[in-house]
Amino acid sequence: MLDLALRDASPAQVIETALKTVGREQLALVSSFGTESAALLKVMADVDPAIPVIFLDTGWLFEETLAYRDTLIATLGLRDVRSIKPLDEALSRQDPDRELWFTDPDACCRIRKVEPLARALKPFSAWINGRKRFQGGARAEIPVVEEDGTRLKFNPFANVSREEIEAIYKLGKLPPHPLVASGYLSVGCMPCSSRAAADEDARAGRWRGRAKTECGIHTTKTS
Ligand code: SF4
Repeated sequence: MLDLALRDASPAQVIETALKTVGREQLALVSSFGTESAALLKVMADVDPAIPVIFLDTGWLFEETLAYRDTLIATLGLRDVRSIKPLDEALSRQDPDRELWFTDPDACCRIRKVEPLARALKPFSAWINGRKRFQGGARAEIPVVEEDGTRLKFNPFANVSREEIEAIYKLGKLPPHPLVASGYLSVGCMPCSSRAAADEDARAGRWRGRAKTECGIHTTKTS
């Protein structure tokens, strides 16, 4: 119903509707502070910079990503960014040598991303994320609004194009992620991100050489 109503809505209208539907106390945006993240954060900040932003600090992020988070907080005036870490107990029990990303990346993503996100989203009844259909793969047919267990999940960029994202950067004079200049089209955890050639899909550098294409936060219900 909501998805149908928002099928042709602008990203700002989708976020405004999410706010009206559940209220700010119940709404969070999840951001990786990656190569395209500033666009969604800018749209959100223009609607309401106090919407809580959840950032999964997996323990394997590039220093540049942590610095970019701080740059965007300052540039966009984000008022409630929450950096969420995995549980120490889970890390020492399941990944004491920090090799799980190699031996079992799904388990690594589970303890460093999926479980921390599920914990962080507990107080909220809806969340916003930045996936786009043009990213292809499992994302090619995402709706604008979907059910995620007991929560609503809003995808304000579902039907925006790469050019529209670029236009938001240009218009807002948004700083690029520092690693874009060195050839990263998509940035996640250090061991699982590599540079991508200009003619490759943006996410081709993620989990390169493996069948894995998603970390699990969008393919596992959060509740
Ligand atoms: S992206 Fe790689 S390092 Fe990061 S949590 Fe997943 S498997 Fe681990």
